[in-house]
Amino acid sequence: MLIIDAHLDLATNALSLNRDLKKSVQEIRERELGMTDTPDRGNGAVSLPELRRGGVGLVVATIISRVAAEGTSHSSSKLVGWHSPEQAYAFAQGQLAWYRAMEEQGEMVQITSRGELDTHIRVWEDKRDSEEEKPVGYILSLEGADSVIDFDYLEKYVENGLRAIGPAHYGPGRYAPGTHSDGGGLMPKGKDLLREMYYHNLILDATHLTDKGFFEAMDVFQGTVWASHQNCRSVVPGERQFSDEQLKILIERGAVIGGALDNWMLFPDYQQRKTEGAESLGINMEMLVDHFDHICQLAGNSDHIAFGTDLDGLFGTEQMPYDMDTIADLPKYEGILASRGYSPADIEKIFSGNWLRLLREAWR
Ligand SMILES: [Zn+2]
Repeated sequence: MLIIDAHLDLATNALSLNRDLKKSVQEIRERELGMTDTPDRGNGAVSLPELRRGGVGLVVATIISRVAAEGTSHSSSKLVGWHSPEQAYAFAQGQLAWYRAMEEQGEMVQITSRGELDTHIRVWEDKRDSEEEKPVGYILSLEGADSVIDFDYLEKYVENGLRAIGPAHYGPGRYAPGTHSDGGGLMPKGKDLLREMYYHNLILDATHLTDKGFFEAMDVFQGTVWASHQNCRSVVPGERQFSDEQLKILIERGAVIGGALDNWMLFPDYQQRKTEGAESLGINMEMLVDHFDHICQLAGNSDHIAFGTDLDGLFGTEQMPYDMDTIADLPKYEGILASRGYSPADIEKIFSGNWLRLLREAWR
């Protein structure tokens, strides 16, 4: 069964972590043996062959390039905080160039319209060809909008196929503060960005917005919304998860919420890089279904849940459910969801149907 994953940071893995994603996960892990610069060295779980092996035929793939405000360093993540928007834009173009090279090799294909989406889905549903031969489709998204120098550059991004933006990421941002920031609202230019995004029919990714920023964005932005990699605060407390009030607004607006497989978002009080292993804590794949159940209860249906795994989001197996080794384990959810009472029709919606409905509606 085709799977859509609405959040992977493929270009960040290629360029910031120096991973050749054309290789198998095993080969990438072996090349990193002995490296200690990041906690996920040797533990990667995503590569292009692995996506194909798991039947993940379409992903939302990000460009991440941040600006560090004067007087701050790289804020809270391992990613470079550039000292100007122009530098951030140039680094983002490097990531785009990597996606383009993957397209030229037949490894990936960019999806920007309903026609391209329908053609791509037909390719993946055609059982005559082996999945190993099929390009992984990607919808280009910005995680953090710092690299949008000004709105002329937004236009350049759109011409290059950008179809979604999450204005916030970690710490302060030029348009919106994100997770681990002071919790303030949108920056003055953030509201203008949302209006420009609506004009260009870009999807707003609500993930990483602060609570205040979230409610402001919902007031200003009239277009299609999703939360690409997002779990529930009622199940796992913490600012990174959304409250029921936020989830209900997303449901009302027809959004889809991508369930993330980061232990930090699956297990209460999980301390990144400090907590004991997933196995001793009992963190398994099924824990994501608690978040799915919660959203279904709020919605009264299964139309708003899907995958946004984040499985290459600066963590690997050290911060993943113990019963997963790579992204190719996602098809196991067919059995897990069935055992939790989800019908075959529900499972099809979670695997691909809900994202497809939202995209076809957004691009009609
Ligand atoms: Zn993220």
